[in-house]
Parts: sequence; structure tokens; C-alpha cells
Amino acid sequence: MSKSGKCLCGDVSFTYDSDPGIFLICHCTDCQKSTGSPLASIIVIPESDFKVNGSTGSYECEAKVTRSFCKNCGSQVFSRIASAPGVVAIKTGVLDEQPSIKPTLACWTKSKPDWLEIEHPENVFEENPG
Ligand SMILES: [Zn+2]
Ligand SMILES: [Zn+2]
Repeated sequence: MSKSGKCLCGDVSFTYDSDPGIFLICHCTDCQKSTGSPLASIIVIPESDFKVNGSTGSYECEAKVTRSFCKNCGSQVFSRIASAPGVVAIKTGVLDEQPSIKPTLACWTKSKPDWLEIEHPENVFEENPG
């Protein structure tokens, strides 16, 4: 896969070098609020491999996650997690190409909406982008 991505308007772009080891689906209410969607889909890569271009705004939420977004279009691009120093969490929706690996981890399923039918990574991800 190409290791790059950008926000909706293109003002913020990024590249990274490593293959993601963690591919996370998160149903927590912070992710729901911040994305406006029932889940966040996230790959985790080493911060040292991550290069971002363009102007981002950011804020830290209660869970000590600093969420960075494009100041122009508002796309959420990446996050830093206080409890996981040294890594960057990138929303897969802003990747130029979807990950070829399947999700490895799902969390906060207790706030998953009942109407959302999804096979979590313990089984098989229903829509395999690869
Ligand atoms: Zn943008
Ligand atoms: Zn979350």
C-alpha cells in the first residue's frame, strides 16, 4: 500500500515508512463524537516514521488523547495518546490507500450502536479492503 494520506481538502498531508502493526476499531463515545460516526478506524505507527505537512489544529480530550485535524476542512487526521508515547494513531479514512491488513483489535464495543452489524477482528472483518 502507498504510505501516505491527506485530509478532505488536501491542505494536510502525511507520509510514513513502517507497516502498521495495530489496526484498531474503536467504538468509544469520544471517537463517535469526534468523527461523527459509529466507529473510528485507526492504524498505529511509530511516531519517528511519521511526517506531516500542513497546518493542523489539535485538542486534548479527557481520555488524554490529543486529536489533530485540518484547520481548513476539519478532517481528523491523527492522534497522539498519552498512555502510548512514541506512536501516532492515524484514521484510516484519510489514507490514500486502505490498509491491506485486517483490523487486529476492536475496543469499546459496549458503546457500539445496536443497529451496526460488524464482525470484529476476533473473527473476520466483513469488508476486507485488501
Ligand atoms: Zn483539509
Ligand atoms: Zn475511541
